[in-house]
Amino acid sequence: MASALGREEKDVFAAYLAKNRLKRSEQREVILDSFLRSARHLSVDDLLHMVQKKRPDIGRTTVYRTLKLLQAAGLASELALDGQSRFERDWKRQHHDHFICKSCGAIFEFSSPEIERLQDEIAAGLGFLIEGHRHHIFGICRRCAARPHRAALRAR
Ligand SMILES: [Zn+2]
Ligand SMILES: [Zn+2]
Repeated sequence: MASALGREEKDVFAAYLAKNRLKRSEQREVILDSFLRSARHLSVDDLLHMVQKKRPDIGRTTVYRTLKLLQAAGLASELALDGQSRFERDWKRQHHDHFICKSCGAIFEFSSPEIERLQDEIAAGLGFLIEGHRHHIFGICRRCAARPHRAALRAR
């Protein structure tokens, strides 16, 4: 049901807009709704394509600005990757990190209590106060590694 989908997130966004004296426009609602329907790590263009299926009149700038508002409201987080940002849902999500395929752009999430514990230990040793971290681990995914042309590329 569309109405129940992400209702809490919609309320949070409405409250954020009101607090910052921003208009609650229908365009923003459509963009948020499309964003909430995807569990993926979306580029601005990914989201733009989804939005434009319903509303071809909504442009890229509006989508981008709305994503930045969602980020400011705590509903989206941005992965700043080489050349292209991706946005994912962040509301009440557990911390996680990412493997990123440099060939096809596929993104895999992981979380490891062990890695988290180790970095806390190392930080404590340095007297460093961690405020946050993002692990982006780059490489080649299984599917791309299995493609024959990869082997040819490596052989060059
Ligand atoms: Zn890949
Ligand atoms: Zn993620």
